[in-house]
Amino acid sequence: MIEHVETFAGTRDLQRARGGSIGLVPTLGFLHEGHSALIQRARSECDVVTVSVFVNPLQFGEGEDLDRYPRDIERDSTIAAAAGADLVFAPALTEMFPVAPVTTVSLEALTDTLTGKSRPGHFAGVATIVTKLFAGLQPDRAYFGRKDAQQLAVVTRLASDLSFPVRVVGCPIIREADGLAMSSRNTYLNDLERRAATSLSRGLMAAADAVERGTLDAETLEAIAYDAMSSEHLVEPEYAELHDAHSVVHLNTVDRDSFLAVAGRLGETRLIDNVHFDVTDEGIVIDRGIRSQQTESGQS
Ligand code: AMP
Repeated sequence: MIEHVETFAGTRDLQRARGGSIGLVPTLGFLHEGHSALIQRARSECDVVTVSVFVNPLQFGEGEDLDRYPRDIERDSTIAAAAGADLVFAPALTEMFPVAPVTTVSLEALTDTLTGKSRPGHFAGVATIVTKLFAGLQPDRAYFGRKDAQQLAVVTRLASDLSFPVRVVGCPIIREADGLAMSSRNTYLNDLERRAATSLSRGLMAAADAVERGTLDAETLEAIAYDAMSSEHLVEPEYAELHDAHSVVHLNTVDRDSFLAVAGRLGETRLIDNVHFDVTDEGIVIDRGIRSQQTESGQS
């Protein structure tokens, strides 16, 4: 039976009662198969699995979708339970912030490009809340999706900089059958936008094919990904850029652990996606993500 908890102390008590290693999966809720994959991975590696569900106001900017972000905690509990979670930690705003916080955690060197550039303050909001979750729930392992590659770099670095005894685990992107990266925000898309949105992953897969054929030049790869987005009139491309997976600096060539990231707007909706490249002695290992076998995930 999955337990629903609203306080840090209550969650720690239940985690301790169950005993063993603790895996944490932080989310904004409205769970989909991408979140389920993180929970399943945590289940396979940890004794207790806690999923946090909190629509964090600190990471939404002025005029962004905080108010209309989809919320359904009953549905989230059902999905989290099916994926193997033990606890859902769903704090009220007053539990997370009994008094208005004056402390923020920011990693400016990692957040002046990509999403950090177009959403000022976003990553300070993410880093502050993740710091609170790490401090308040004391997980041994925490699971994050490569979908948010810049966020993964930020969280990994903050855990190291602030000496949290947590291992941050990055997991592959889960995609719809047609390639679109799963996202709670896909629910905002109308049918035409939903179809046009596949251009983000289409461009990335074409760029990954080019890497497989030996093209490592960033400019060429970025143009392939960007042009796929521009070919759809409903998509307003924001960027296609190759960055170091750890320092998040822009790269000229695929010569280390890196990701080719895209962002585009469809109406009011901003979508992001990426492919990950790992440069090993045996060659470049490409993580394109995993396509869902189901034709309908209930998200599109
Ligand atoms: P969110 O609820 O969107 O903040 O996401 C919570 C966690 O799930 C983050 O670590 C995301 O990177 C991860 N995530 C979201 N979508 C996907 C996806 N399609 N595949 C893998 N992980 C994802």
